[in-house]
Amino acid sequence: MKGMTPPARLTVVAGPTAVGKGTVVAKLRDLHPEILVSVSATTRSPRPGEVDGRHYFFVTDEAFDELVATGQMLEWATVHGTHRYGTPRRPVEEALTQGRAVVLEIDLDGARQVRRAMPNAHLIFLAPPSWEELERRLIGRGTEDAQERARRLHTARTELAAEREFDDIVINDDVDKAASALARLMGLE
Ligand code: 5GP
Repeated sequence: MKGMTPPARLTVVAGPTAVGKGTVVAKLRDLHPEILVSVSATTRSPRPGEVDGRHYFFVTDEAFDELVATGQMLEWATVHGTHRYGTPRRPVEEALTQGRAVVLEIDLDGARQVRRAMPNAHLIFLAPPSWEELERRLIGRGTEDAQERARRLHTARTELAAEREFDDIVINDDVDKAASALARLMGLE
């Protein structure tokens, strides 16, 4: 196979809440603008500064139901027991057909669904440097009340245990290093 470009592969980046997936994937995109970073659909409302179609497709519950019912979601999950998030299938399949690398930044439930739907997908677990650091990041975000923080910590413990289901692990102790490690694992560097 010498001299041939390997077929484009779907890469899933998942990991516990607040591990910094969004920041690392944004850095990866800066380094490699040729990658398609999938834009998810969600039923949650936009946060200040978030742009429809760029950060997410912000949709109603009814529209989300329709996307699921018509098979337009590659995977979807209810995250933190509240809102639904999903990966629109078409842009991902089109990019892969064109030979473009695709990255999904999704939760663990979604990662497991992708594993079943596309056994060839590359699952990368983004891990915190330590549990203490993850706890600090979760609480440091300061946007949730005590009960919500406790719930997120509980979720994060379960999520950390999922590490062994993944093909590779990248430790996010430094955003630049973690993004480069991802790029290397994806065969881009
Ligand atoms: P946030 O509401 O903070 O933007 O995202 C919350 C969580 O939803 C993150 O952990 C993120 O990984 C997850 N998420 C975002 N998009 C998707 C998606 O398309 N599918 C799944 N399964 N999870 C997603």
